Amino acid sequence: MKSNDCTQFRFCPQCAGRLTAKKIDHLPRQVCKDCGFIFYQNSKPTASAIITDSKGQLLLVRRKMNPRKGYWDLPGGFLEEGENPINGLKREMKEELGIDIEISSQIGIYIDDYSGSYQSKTLNIAYEAKSPKGKITPMDDVNEVRWFLKTKIPWRKLAFPWLRAVLKDWLKK
Ligand SMILES: [Zn+2]
Repeated sequence: MKSNDCTQFRFCPQCAGRLTAKKIDHLPRQVCKDCGFIFYQNSKPTASAIITDSKGQLLLVRRKMNPRKGYWDLPGGFLEEGENPINGLKREMKEELGIDIEISSQIGIYIDDYSGSYQSKTLNIAYEAKSPKGKITPMDDVNEVRWFLKTKIPWRKLAFPWLRAVLKDWLKK
């Protein structure tokens, strides 16, 4: 599927009229014939944490669900509409691992594709965070957590391409 292919929604979410493809600002968009609604699509924002312990080990989580079930991921998740990324990341850490984290800096922003299907492009914001106080309890969509030495990062078992990019940037810091 092409990156700007947005042919899968057929009806206008505003008036239920037919959507048709039209080139607007150099890209094909779905436009409603009846009310003129333009269905703009954007990458979905996520926030993730690079959490290290006192030995400099990195915390990774093993995905319990598809896509990429069984592969290693950074702890994090999708942001809600209007949610501040830092607040969203703190919320996710509470939901996913049962911990409060202290964020120290932003590493970067990375574009990727979650599942290779319609509307699955992601905009991933990564932060560095301090080792959490309290016990890590995997919940929700995580089935295992593990601390990895910087020299033992499971590069070939990472869930998404952007993880390789962010971890390389982090190691260069
Ligand atoms: Zn409409």
